[in-house]
Amino acid sequence: MSTRQEWEDSEFPILCETCLGDNPYVRMTRQGYGKDCKICGKPFTIFKWCPGAGMRYKKTEICQTCAKLKNACQTCILDLENGLPLQVRDTILNTANEMPTSDINLQYYSQNMDKQLNHGAAVTSYGRVDSLARESLKRIARTEPYYKRNRPHICSFFVKGECKRGEECPYRHELPKENELIKQNIKDRYFGTNDPVAQKILNRTNKASKLKKPEDKSITSLFLTGIESDITEKDIKNFFYAFGEIKSVVIIYKSKCAFVNFATRSGAELAVEKAYNNCNINDHVIRVQWGKPKVQGPKSESTSKDASKSEQTPSYNQLTYSDLSKMVPPPPPGAPGTQPLLYPSQDPTYLGNIPAKKTRN
Ligand SMILES: [Zn+2]
Ligand SMILES: [Zn+2]
Ligand SMILES: [Zn+2]
Repeated sequence: MSTRQEWEDSEFPILCETCLGDNPYVRMTRQGYGKDCKICGKPFTIFKWCPGAGMRYKKTEICQTCAKLKNACQTCILDLENGLPLQVRDTILNTANEMPTSDINLQYYSQNMDKQLNHGAAVTSYGRVDSLARESLKRIARTEPYYKRNRPHICSFFVKGECKRGEECPYRHELPKENELIKQNIKDRYFGTNDPVAQKILNRTNKASKLKKPEDKSITSLFLTGIESDITEKDIKNFFYAFGEIKSVVIIYKSKCAFVNFATRSGAELAVEKAYNNCNINDHVIRVQWGKPKVQGPKSESTSKDASKSEQTPSYNQLTYSDLSKMVPPPPPGAPGTQPLLYPSQDPTYLGNIPAKKTRN
């Protein structure tokens, strides 16, 4: 007996939490090899069920082999784990595996994969994905099942103002939202090639993940947070040196932050571009931001502006580059009578620069 057969003889489909619905005792009807899989074209076992009161009936659309190959729900074709379109998942995790898309080749491929899955061979690269990519995926994933997705479809007659069934109408009487108007094709969604919903999500995340360059070109420093005690200056340099010459690295362990000062602006820009949302040092996820502009001397015009800024409670993520630059160089470690500076206010040269902070001492 082949694996395909075993799977299709299974008593339960491969479903995401949302498609299953909120009733754990949901009753399913099962029709052995009742239809052809919408991806590979082979007959598979169809399940039908109602995922909760007032919801529409759902059924499986693709076979268990195809679902397993992409870690997809047999019904909604979204990722089983995080509910995201497969294209979004594979783009972010960089796990798009080469699959033939033509029917004949796909049937051959899927047959081979049946065998491989049967022998427990790893067919996908999900296990090898780095933790940082997983982290960014988690940020955009749904954490809870989204049962609203199981509601009846929108009544097309109602949209045209022509539905006469009123209360009796089993379809939803409301106007479609933008997302519901997007036309998607099941194969495109499965192969992650041309999925407009996925594209939208990816565009949104791309935009969010690009940091604006500060206009002040003198800023050549990055501000890092998430610096744990086992991360050394050397670790930070090792990570960032590839982007450009590093002038200095300043770590403030107590605040779990650090500054990386590049010799050039282009080095800093490249580092932000490559490391933003993508910085992992000693298995710690590090947040990368631009440093803040240098504050001029006590007599500069910026003093009054800075004064108002510093009225907020200072916290480590508000420490600016200028705060830090005044702490450089730090006292040599172990020097008699010296303690590492932890806050700008501990630096004697700091006093007088920012009046509001001075009053805190
Ligand atoms: Zn299939
Ligand atoms: Zn689903
Ligand atoms: Zn209607």
